[in-house]
Amino acid sequence: MSESITNQKSLLLQYVEENNLRVYDIYIDDGYSGTNFDRPGFNRLLKDIELGKINMVITKDMSRLGRDYIGTGNFIEKYFPEHNVRYIAVTDNVDTFLDSSNNDIAPFKAIMNDMYAKDISKKIKSSLKAKMKEGKWVGGRTPFGYDKDPNDKNHLVINKEQAVIVKRIFNMCLDGLSFYKIAKQLTSEKIKTPAQYYSFEWKSHYNLRYGTWHSKTIRDILTNRMYIGDLVQNKRSKVNYKVKKIVNNNTNDYIVVENNHEAIIDREIFYEVQKRIPKNKGRNEKKEKHLLDGLLYCGDCGHRISITSRRKKDNRCYTICNYYRTYMRERLCTTHSNNYDELEKIIINSLIETCLNYINKDKIKNDVLLNLDEMSKDDDKKELDTLNDDIKQINNNLDDIYIDKLNDRITEEQFKRVKIKLENELSIKQKKYDDLNDDVDDTIDEKSKNKIIVEYINKFLSMKELDRELIINLVDRIEIFEDKNINIIVTFDKV
Ligand SMILES: [Zn+2]
Repeated sequence: MSESITNQKSLLLQYVEENNLRVYDIYIDDGYSGTNFDRPGFNRLLKDIELGKINMVITKDMSRLGRDYIGTGNFIEKYFPEHNVRYIAVTDNVDTFLDSSNNDIAPFKAIMNDMYAKDISKKIKSSLKAKMKEGKWVGGRTPFGYDKDPNDKNHLVINKEQAVIVKRIFNMCLDGLSFYKIAKQLTSEKIKTPAQYYSFEWKSHYNLRYGTWHSKTIRDILTNRMYIGDLVQNKRSKVNYKVKKIVNNNTNDYIVVENNHEAIIDREIFYEVQKRIPKNKGRNEKKEKHLLDGLLYCGDCGHRISITSRRKKDNRCYTICNYYRTYMRERLCTTHSNNYDELEKIIINSLIETCLNYINKDKIKNDVLLNLDEMSKDDDKKELDTLNDDIKQINNNLDDIYIDKLNDRITEEQFKRVKIKLENELSIKQKKYDDLNDDVDDTIDEKSKNKIIVEYINKFLSMKELDRELIINLVDRIEIFEDKNINIIVTFDKV
């Protein structure tokens, strides 16, 4: 439990006092997590509702009712209204008594949607992974050379026409041709490229570069284990359900099922070819990685913005709208040309500012929480003192009855009875004292909500050399407009 029961209690009692409400009972489930509704205190609450003893339920926030937000929704939207119970979540501003069609249930809806999305995305992920492990193809577009089996969409079958090309590429490599030469040869023979196969209907639109084989395509084909019958999946994944950025996984995370489908290339040939593949030696392969690669979008047309390679004469690289570049003649968009390094500086500075604002807001919030914490600590201290006095008193009484017994003022029988009673009381008070003492030691951890974001931000702000991965966690996308306006969409709530 992130927050001590005593803190919640004092907050709720304060609320009750301010609103002139009458307390029927306090239901506590200490030590039980909010993840399910099977909790003794909660069950007692339901019983009292059903017996008509209560007409109102107050919790600190909705997560106190239950961390399963879908179940929580049922309680708020069905169970409570059916039993004429008004429900209030103090810090979430939820009050079912207010106009129910248009009240402050919005924050709840947001949490619910959020949790729901997380839940769904988790379920989809795990079921996809299970399928991958079973050797089922779960991707969209099949690798060049394969089609989906018409009888089983999770199974791959060879596309004979494409397989001939794949085999030829492997042979050309064994013959000692470079990627570039292979690509040039295939292009000159007007062999259809993967892109031409995939977007057949689109190609009439853009014929010029369409039939061109590129070195990278050749390399991708020559290194793809799918061609020896091994199913390799889970190569890329989303950062999380909130951050829709796709990142390349470590090879350790790949899910591989060997000999899963019919091979196009013999294993021996494949491994022979791997030995000949240069390890990122070619100048073309060693492309500079920019901090904002993949994050830039055209604010005017919505397509991606690329970063060109450095020009020899001034060692500069520039941004350019892909849509513009592709349809230059049709003038479907404009250049969106900026000196990339300058742009990067502006964007990073602006991001730093946004992050600082967020951190400051977060700090103010935590200071308030800290104050609340201090206040309830004072109450706890008073209660601890009282308990301490009680314990002393019981010990005194125990001493007294010993003396009484020694002086024969009470019988052995009476002594035993009183002693048991006092010792019982003592152990109850002692336990209360210990529990409360533990609670006081507990510190508030309300921060956990945005802890991760704050962690990312702090890392980002303290970093000497900026790290792309970290920026991806903070930035969803950056929109560049032709009029030089920039819109940074971050993954957290802007202040
Ligand atoms: Zn554009």
